[in-house]
Amino acid sequence: MTALTFDNRFVTELPGDPETSNRRRQVLGACWSAVEPTPVAEPRLLAHAREVAELVGLTPNDVALPEFARVFGGNALYAGMQPYAACYGGHQFGNWAGQLGDGRAITLGEVVNARGERWELQLKGAGPTPYSRSADGRAVLRSSVREFLCSEAMFHLGVPTTRALSLVDTGEPVVRDMFYDGNAQAERGAIVCRVAPSFIRFGNFEILAARDERALLNQLVDFTISRDFAHLTGTVAEQRAAWFREVCERSARMVVDWMRVGFVHGVMNTDNMSILGLTIDYGPYGWLEDFDPNWTPNTTDAAGRRYRYGQQPAIVQWNLVRLAEALRPVFDTPEPLEAGLDAFLAVYDSAYERMMSAKFGFAERTASGGNVTLDDAEQQLIREAFGLMNAAQADYTLFFRALGHVPDIIPPDATIVGVLGDVFYHEDVLVTHNEPFMQWLRRWHAHVLSTGSSSSARRARMHRVNPKFVLRNWIAQEAIDLADQGDNTRIHELLELLRAPYDEQPGNERFAAKRPEWARHKAGCSMLSCSS
Ligand code: AMP
Ligand code: MG
Repeated sequence: MTALTFDNRFVTELPGDPETSNRRRQVLGACWSAVEPTPVAEPRLLAHAREVAELVGLTPNDVALPEFARVFGGNALYAGMQPYAACYGGHQFGNWAGQLGDGRAITLGEVVNARGERWELQLKGAGPTPYSRSADGRAVLRSSVREFLCSEAMFHLGVPTTRALSLVDTGEPVVRDMFYDGNAQAERGAIVCRVAPSFIRFGNFEILAARDERALLNQLVDFTISRDFAHLTGTVAEQRAAWFREVCERSARMVVDWMRVGFVHGVMNTDNMSILGLTIDYGPYGWLEDFDPNWTPNTTDAAGRRYRYGQQPAIVQWNLVRLAEALRPVFDTPEPLEAGLDAFLAVYDSAYERMMSAKFGFAERTASGGNVTLDDAEQQLIREAFGLMNAAQADYTLFFRALGHVPDIIPPDATIVGVLGDVFYHEDVLVTHNEPFMQWLRRWHAHVLSTGSSSSARRARMHRVNPKFVLRNWIAQEAIDLADQGDNTRIHELLELLRAPYDEQPGNERFAAKRPEWARHKAGCSMLSCSS
């Protein structure tokens, strides 16, 4: 077994909870509580991501040892691990919710790999902690498969995200009421080990501000800058200003990527916002299929649709404002915080334009200041496209991929389905939407042809940002249904497929197809609750 180097800075440099029991409680004056994973009946490795093992410094041989499943199932520790649960709060669905904390996440330690990179290893579903409130600290197989696969899918799509090392079956049942309707059932339990340079969330700062623990708030800010933003230089005040600005800018780039690939997080509470601008906490997330900016996958959010696709950028901004408020006591003046929030808007606007320009295959145009700008005709084309896609129920992923394949010559009698293929869910798309959609397509076509680049260059540019394969809910659900019956082959197949989401991958067309009819209203495919 390869020896890993752990330096565990979070627990060695920040104050911990003096109480060491696992009693549920409010934890004051501390950033973490020591807690060990609760051993499980029969830990069995279902899948692992070999690139993540490599990042952490584990060899294929280490992964094959029985000890690997025991450690990442919560039954053993590697030398140097110091497990703990972090204390944080959060705004949930717009309201301050007080202390939340790692109720079922347990960090095992911070590995420093041979390249000097830090990777925090965190189990999700490893048993109760002082922050578990009334819940059991466990996770079901279905939600663990979803977190495992989606973390890796997002990484390979080029979206900032936490990673996933392993998926371990616990051999123990977990009881869940999936739709909160009184039908609780025993499900298979599992544990994911997720991996990121840091799991610090906006809520880690908010809880200290809410409790007016000023000195500790200062200490956590200094710690975060020193450990996770070590590249920042200057005076303390300059570093703090640059740090907040960078958090805002990273968050902006993250949400632009979500919009690009059609990812809807589903629960963008401030406790689910990473200080590194990583996508974190995969729960009732979903992928846009028939394009609808008001869609949310989360049944718990169905009434208010606070976390719907089209509102995600505004929610990131709202969450950053909550973070700025929490940080106000550690800044002498509000200006650096205001500047950071302004930077969010500036970076979001320019990154969004650049992203849309690439998605639609418009020519790259650099204006003064380095921003790529869309001209009026392009802005108009984009607005109209989204209106038409919504009306004709175009599959978000398939539509953009098909647009990249439009040939240099469109025959005069072509139909929209003839040109783009079967990418619409609307039953009468040809009757109701053909005419306006073809008019739009011809204008788009004339525009991209007029602005220069060859069709092959345009296609290459579009295919780099428009994936062919995303983790559609029904695709994940098929893998879950098989895994529930003890067949993990689909999980491995999907992990492989999603490693190259922009490649054509002939033979895998089935996974780049419209949502099948059976999945339209099936639990796990169109409706997901927070129960996990
Ligand atoms: P989430 O909505 O998954 O981000 O969770 C919100 C809070 O509830 C976090 O503090 C979680 O750690 C906690 N939590 C969620 N599910 C469980 C569970 N099964 N057991 C203990 N705590 C949980
Ligand atoms: Mg969470």
